Amino acid sequence: MELPKSIAVQDITSFDPPKRKLMGPGPSDIHPRISAALSRHCIGHLDPEFVKVMDEIKLMTQYVYQTTNQLTMVVSAPGSAGMEACFVNLVEPGDKAIVCINGVFGGRMKENVERCGGTAIVVEDEWGKPVDPNKVEEALKAHPDAQVLAFVHAETSTGVRSDAEVLCQLAKQYGCLSIVDTVTSLAGIPVLVDDWGMDAVYSGSQKCLSCTPGLSPVTFSKRAVKKIKNRATKVQSWFLDMNLVMNYWGTAGTKRAYHHTAPVNALYAMHEALLMVQEEGLDDRWERHHKHHLALKEGLEELGFRYLVDEEYRLPQLNAVFLPEGLDEANIRKQLLEDHMLEVGGGLGAFAGKIWRIGLMGYSAREENVEYCLGALREVI
Ligand SMILES: *Cc1c(COP(=O)(O)O)cnc(C)c1O
Repeated sequence: MELPKSIAVQDITSFDPPKRKLMGPGPSDIHPRISAALSRHCIGHLDPEFVKVMDEIKLMTQYVYQTTNQLTMVVSAPGSAGMEACFVNLVEPGDKAIVCINGVFGGRMKENVERCGGTAIVVEDEWGKPVDPNKVEEALKAHPDAQVLAFVHAETSTGVRSDAEVLCQLAKQYGCLSIVDTVTSLAGIPVLVDDWGMDAVYSGSQKCLSCTPGLSPVTFSKRAVKKIKNRATKVQSWFLDMNLVMNYWGTAGTKRAYHHTAPVNALYAMHEALLMVQEEGLDDRWERHHKHHLALKEGLEELGFRYLVDEEYRLPQLNAVFLPEGLDEANIRKQLLEDHMLEVGGGLGAFAGKIWRIGLMGYSAREENVEYCLGALREVI
């Protein structure tokens, strides 16, 4: 058969990625143990041995989230799908949700509420500042009919941490369910789902968990499950409808109903990533992120970088910094990538071209990376 010549595929060969150090806003460096797990022999997703793997993933996900929530699982898609899973299940057409925006990801939450047919009441804070609980309380008082309070725990666009405990308690006090983005916070700083009374929480595999991108651990409280089970309307997304997925991830001992084919190998990687968190211990992991952040900070400040966020609200795993005066940030970032095989993140939105976002997430949070990054910067600047 004569194939069309216009599709020029003859020159393509296998892809061998450059071995870069990943110190941007994610993905982070992947530990060799996790890459090795990814390439293990694929087995069927309903194989009894794989069901065990899923059960263990669920258990370890409960551990990283510090929760006993039954509805805890890993969505077979990236953090954005975890976000969508929370919104499509908890926001029905006509519902009102209070959405806090202090960066890029809060803006996406608003978009999610509106696409679910809900109304978003926006509480805005300046980029680089945490969500102001006083403004949130005012909004909750002004809108007693609101059902949801949504906010981002760790804003990756600015490197700021908001007080998730206080905000979730406010949600509870005013009869709202909380939806919390912990994509960048989980396994880097404390996320205490049960202690803080969080209701619907999502994260991502490729930030402080240092797993391959493309998975999203989520957890739903009993209150959230009650809302999902008592919805007046069907969840608009078939794939993300927790009523259906719930029966797939199952309760230990119950039979699993086929929903979709789990990304088997990606889940091997997740299993290994979670196992490494459990082996290290959450306390020690948080401490490690903090320690390397302090070392990086010292070096950066010596070089004339300045932090965007006040010390109290800074994320150790995402260092948002202004460059020293007079430097061409895009050009230097290019040099780091090309000459030093080092990726750091540029600014987003209002901070594009103004700040860098230097990640110390998961396996990237280690002495070798801090020294490598500072060494490369000293050469380039
Ligand atoms: C990275 C990120 C997301 C999106 O996750 P993806 O895996 O890229 O879909 C959502 N929220 C925050 C705060 C993030 O940092």
